[in-house]
Amino acid sequence: MADPNGFLSHPRKDAPKRPTDERLGDWHEVYAHLTSSERDTQVRKQATRCMDCGIPFCHSGSAGCPLGNLIPEWNDLVRRGDWRLAGERLHATNNFPEFTGKLCPAPCEAACVLAISPESGGSVTIKRIEETIAEVAWENSDVAARVSTVASGKRVAVVGSGPAGLAAAQQLTRAGHEVTVFERDDRLGGLLRYGIPEFKMEKKVLDRRLAQLRAEGTKFVTGCEVGGSGLSVAELRASFDSVVLAVGALRGRDAPDIPGRDLDGVHMAMDHLVPANRECEGDGPTPISAKGKHVLIIGGGDTGADCYGTATRQGALSVTQLDQYPKPPDARDDERSPWPVWPVVLRTYPAHEEAGERRFAVAVKRFVGADGHVRSVELQKVRVERDPETGNRVVTPVSDEVDTIPADMVLLAIGFDGVEHMPLLDGLGLSLTKRGTLACGSDWQTSAPGVFVCGDAHRGASLVVWAIAEGRSVANAVDAYLTGASDLPAPVHPT
Ligand code: SF4
Repeated sequence: MADPNGFLSHPRKDAPKRPTDERLGDWHEVYAHLTSSERDTQVRKQATRCMDCGIPFCHSGSAGCPLGNLIPEWNDLVRRGDWRLAGERLHATNNFPEFTGKLCPAPCEAACVLAISPESGGSVTIKRIEETIAEVAWENSDVAARVSTVASGKRVAVVGSGPAGLAAAQQLTRAGHEVTVFERDDRLGGLLRYGIPEFKMEKKVLDRRLAQLRAEGTKFVTGCEVGGSGLSVAELRASFDSVVLAVGALRGRDAPDIPGRDLDGVHMAMDHLVPANRECEGDGPTPISAKGKHVLIIGGGDTGADCYGTATRQGALSVTQLDQYPKPPDARDDERSPWPVWPVVLRTYPAHEEAGERRFAVAVKRFVGADGHVRSVELQKVRVERDPETGNRVVTPVSDEVDTIPADMVLLAIGFDGVEHMPLLDGLGLSLTKRGTLACGSDWQTSAPGVFVCGDAHRGASLVVWAIAEGRSVANAVDAYLTGASDLPAPVHPT
């Protein structure tokens, strides 16, 4: 039984980070490694803050964890020091809790009852507890391969090895199907490999999970463009009973209307992040380094923060990140609010504590160049509103005043417009929705029989926790398609 007064005795304490100087000198994870005695004294106290609510909003309702993680249960197990059972309960709903523990912005914490008022001391540190449970489970060798004891005789192709594809593959392999994951890149992991910087999640974390999937029987093929030169659509259809498309939504949103966009030095965010991550993998120096440059990042989200920390570590002279929205507490997002007063806070990433500057309620008016290369940008103060009829975002300058700042490297991190064009979609006869994603029915099946979709390719660019939840759910649908019924969990439904 949880301690309902625990939050009164123990203040919220976020995970300790390594000193800024130290972490700027390497690419290792920002958060400090805790010894087992530190875990017992620190993380167990944090778990004690959970009240085990009768209706735990952290893992239910529209605002909580889409995986339905059994948060109060494992909080109580950690409070009691039963790390092994906590790891079991965590893995019952989440294939990859170390990914979410390190990468998810934790909608569960925003939905936690203790987030309502500052007097409560803030939400339970769910993300930190989750990550610690997962790490303890790995350290204690409690994360074993679960090899299926049945064989359905059915073959499934999963296209894409990001978190959605891997979750679907693991669930289907464990259900007894013969699963092959196809990846067009040279290494596995999708965004986890080439989009997420090492300082957020080191690749060895991904690699040990891939080893588990291999040991369970999932097969992997890298460097294979399905529908193109790697494997034709006819071969795909002839060789597999079902196909899961988990191809992501990597078509970056551009800003073609800003004068000077075509100057050298103005890049899409992924054109910066991918080679930087490749350099960390040992592929040689990136051609787009921030070293010795004034870097301007346009976009205030996760990808922008990843560019921010990467540019700082590469040795940028300055880093400035722009956000069109005003700095909270002026911002409100009432639609998602489960509470009378939604706890709006400024989302700050560790990268922001290290160096650089953030500017709010501003937008770029013009990129200014010399000799064909960007040298500065002109900024204007703006207001963001919603068109009441279309719901579209409208950005309006609020003054004629222009602020010019130096910038010889500009990174566009303003979101993604959906699935990239690929021959596979044409070959399967699939077209994109207005949102640039792949449509499906209530069973995740596209208009091509036996072809299913999940993750960002279905939802649009979203959180790692949604990718895993959709991967688990599509596995249920594919299993039912192949065998007539499925006992696999389906935590979410198609939008
Ligand atoms: Fe615990 Fe917060 Fe969930 Fe309540 S909402 S069960 S306090 S984590």
